Amino acid sequence: RSRRRWWKVVRAFEEFEEAASTPVGRLRQVVDAMAVEMHAGLASEGGSKLKMLLTFVDKLPDGSESGIYYALHVGGTDFRILRIQLGGQRSILGHDVERKPIPQDLMTTTSEEFFDFLALSLKDFVERKGNNLQLTQVRGKDLGFTFSFPVKQTSVSSGTLIKWTKGFAIDDMVEQDVVECLQKALSRTGLDMNVAALVNDSVGTLAVGHFYDKDTVVAVVIGTGTNACYLERADAVIKCQGLLTASGGMVINMEWGNFWSSHLPRTSYDIDLDAESQNPNDQGFEKMISGMYLGDIVRRVICKMFLVSDIFGPFSSKLSTRFVLSTPLMAAMHEDNSPDLSEVAKILEDTLDIYDAPLKLRKLVVKVCDVVTRRAARLAAAGIVGILKKIGRDGTGGITSGRVKGVKGDKLRRTVVAVEGGLYTSYTIFREYLNEAVAEILGDEIAPYVILKVMEDGSGIGAAMLAASHSARN
Ligand code: ADP
Repeated sequence: RSRRRWWKVVRAFEEFEEAASTPVGRLRQVVDAMAVEMHAGLASEGGSKLKMLLTFVDKLPDGSESGIYYALHVGGTDFRILRIQLGGQRSILGHDVERKPIPQDLMTTTSEEFFDFLALSLKDFVERKGNNLQLTQVRGKDLGFTFSFPVKQTSVSSGTLIKWTKGFAIDDMVEQDVVECLQKALSRTGLDMNVAALVNDSVGTLAVGHFYDKDTVVAVVIGTGTNACYLERADAVIKCQGLLTASGGMVINMEWGNFWSSHLPRTSYDIDLDAESQNPNDQGFEKMISGMYLGDIVRRVICKMFLVSDIFGPFSSKLSTRFVLSTPLMAAMHEDNSPDLSEVAKILEDTLDIYDAPLKLRKLVVKVCDVVTRRAARLAAAGIVGILKKIGRDGTGGITSGRVKGVKGDKLRRTVVAVEGGLYTSYTIFREYLNEAVAEILGDEIAPYVILKVMEDGSGIGAAMLAASHSARN
């Protein structure tokens, strides 16, 4: 009887494994869907689930910038304050960072309280790190502001919040100009600084990538949430006829977390996770890929394994509690190298109240982590190749203004993709799966031309660099 019950558990796993599989053929369909959706999102407002937002960033830092700049980075779990000193010739002479967790209650407060908190923290930082500069001497210093939520920009230094993601819900902020809110909070605090650039975290990552290497034309962030941006030709932004930029290009913030395609390997667990989330029917790609969700998908599969069989003892209420199993804990189970999987046992006990899990169950849990992580990494890889395809850097000719170029004639060019975010930088297996899948999809001929570069803490530094390249002083 016990064998039959165990078999049910294995079946539950196998069904999940099958539904979540990402053979390269399926990934290629995702690549194509991404390129097509990008095109649709550029063709008309609301033409795709991909918003393809204009950033008004038309010149990326090239290393020639100099001076002291500050940046404020609001991510998903923490926020960072930075101060950098640029010395021209691609050099950073000084770099100070301070990280602070975002208090849980601040994620659902009022916009005034939220921005006052940011402004006060910045003031405190400026006072402490400002090389004993008096506050008055900070006057006029340019600030880059990374705000990693969907924003509709109206210029490089203004934009309104479209919606919250990643568990934030400060309702009175939606449709407000985030720079204005910050600028007002800065004056309330008595800090005379100028928000010179409002950028998404992926745009910041692209900026720092480009500062060091001018072949960097795509950036991807995979942390609590996920997003991507890239350098597009201004004339390809069909929804904005006559868009003129000095460089002929513009960075497009894809908001790719909201990408959707019927080719994505969606399972019943994804459907439930979405239905129970704060933003159902939204951010579908993000919910399969990013750090906020991966641990919870694993928890859901483990929960199902318990429901189909009573072999593992009583059902703990924690098993049905959302987000008790965080992605870093899941990664720790996945990366457990001990022969008896003692770390897995410990985490199952501590977070899910599963005591004395037999070794075969612990092994199965590791497999669940593997399936979830592998799918996430491979889908992100397909998304990246989709962008490369759109801009004709995947070796197939790409899509230009709706026409698929038939010729394979595009000369191969070195292309750098800047990647940032805790999932990619801190979760080795995830990073390896992603890198591997990019090479697998591209094939041996093209893969050597595409380089993925880690930009640790890049988006904040990038925001400061963009403040520099868009400052009135430069
Ligand atoms: P954010 O996206 O919140 O601005 P990060 O880019 O640092 O900040 O990403 C943090 C997220 O990355 C965490 O929420 C977590 O999901 C994930 N993460 C961080 N470290 C690890 C790790 N060691 N293993 C797996 N996931 C991790």
